[in-house]
Amino acid sequence: MGTLTPPLTPEALQPVLDRIAAEMAQEPERGQVASYIPELARQSTTPFAIALALPDGQVLRAGDADQGFSIQSISKVFTLAIALGRLGDQLWLRVGREPSGHAFNSILQLEHENGIPRNPFVNAGALVVTDAILAGHQPREVLGELLRFIRLAAADDDIHINKAVAASEQATAHRNIALAEFMAAHGNLRNPAALTIGTYVHQCAVEMSCAQLARAGLFLTGAPGGPRLVSPARIRRINALMMMCGHYDGSGEFAYRVGLPGKSGVGGGILAIAPGRAAIATWSPGLNARGNSHLGTLAMERLARETGWSVFG
Ligand code: GLU
Repeated sequence: MGTLTPPLTPEALQPVLDRIAAEMAQEPERGQVASYIPELARQSTTPFAIALALPDGQVLRAGDADQGFSIQSISKVFTLAIALGRLGDQLWLRVGREPSGHAFNSILQLEHENGIPRNPFVNAGALVVTDAILAGHQPREVLGELLRFIRLAAADDDIHINKAVAASEQATAHRNIALAEFMAAHGNLRNPAALTIGTYVHQCAVEMSCAQLARAGLFLTGAPGGPRLVSPARIRRINALMMMCGHYDGSGEFAYRVGLPGKSGVGGGILAIAPGRAAIATWSPGLNARGNSHLGTLAMERLARETGWSVFG
């Protein structure tokens, strides 16, 4: 991508963001909010936000870009970075690196594949990642480390866990408990399922604004001025996983329409990475049939078209 598209100036990018936000405000089709977590079901489909962080740390924003939302599965990118830092390639003995082609919370593949989840971004895989970083630690310590990592990446200490969202997910976590127990039956869970689930629902309940999330994603651009939290080789691998698996069974569609690595969450957020150029976050709570933000995907598609940013040339 680097040689094909010249870096764009903030002055050129800001009107693009403003235009996208104005267009999204007019869109009649806004998707459906996640209904299986009661606290998320109360959201409105009205908000839309987009923010873009540049390698020098400057953050451009449009729409509701300073409003906090539940990052949900976008947290899986940060826990993966921590787990790889801690375990390195050992992690891949317990979780795969292939797209799933199945819904985020599916149990089907786990049965066929002996309790080894397809990738770290489907729920089963994320539970294994959380279980791995829990080893020998208290949930409080792991969540503290996660918050420290995110705050450092975002250069912002005002990032917290929404306890009401965590409690709400915990109370309705039947499918995730089933996934965890199933993996325990296959010897792929080291901690009691309740401990891993309890940690997982809190990591998903981290609340950030688009401006904070875009800034926190900057380390994945590998840009010279950005924060160095993981090695360049690892950045490439995390981006590869985001591209192939970051939108569950909608990952191929996101790659086709947007052409950038991305990770979605059922809170309506998406984090996308334009390597060497920018980290982009969108938020709109209405989801499409695959559980990815409807307007967020549309906005990312328009941004990629207008900037020419794509990892495919
Ligand atoms: N906490 C959510 C769950 O496990 C995350 C799913 C998502 O954001 O895609 O169901």
